[in-house]
Amino acid sequence: MTAEADLERALRARVKGEVRFDTATRAAYSTDASNYRQVPIAVVVPRSLDDVIATVAECRERDVPVLKRGGGTSLAGQTCNVAVIIDSSKHLRGLQL
Ligand SMILES: Cc1cc2nc3c(=O)[nH]c(=O)nc-3n(C[C@H](O)[C@H](O)[C@H](O)COP(=O)(O)OP(=O)(O)OC[C@H]3O[C@@H](n4cnc5c(N)ncnc54)[C@H](O)[C@@H]3O)c2cc1C
Repeated sequence: MTAEADLERALRARVKGEVRFDTATRAAYSTDASNYRQVPIAVVVPRSLDDVIATVAECRERDVPVLKRGGGTSLAGQTCNVAVIIDSSKHLRGLQL
């Protein structure tokens, strides 16, 4: 099993939200409002804080970088990288203390 397939299997087992490794999603998340283009490893759309914790834990275990994303309106490529993008804009828009 490749490292990417292993990561996908682990994320799908623990994350209740969306886990996306498909090419179309990675292409869509390869940019923000800047000119930067970096194809991410995958995109996770968490449903809860537990999904974020699980994603970070699985990535940390494999030395895979993570990158948080909100609206993706950054102008200097802050949300573009070869990483697992965690997109909070769909379900985690409120402050959670
Ligand atoms: C047309 C236009 C006009 C703009 N005008 C302004 C302006 O007047 N003033 C201004 O300041 N900016 C402006 N911006 C830039 C941008 O909109 C702001 O920087 C905005 O705050 C980014 O919010 P976002 O949710 O899109 O963040 P994103 O672009 O998704 O992320 C911004 C940074 O925050 C981090 N991040 C996102 N979510 C989280 C999270 N949950 N936890 C931890 N880190 C997180 C990301 O990793 C990234 O580093 C403009 C952009 C555009 C396209």
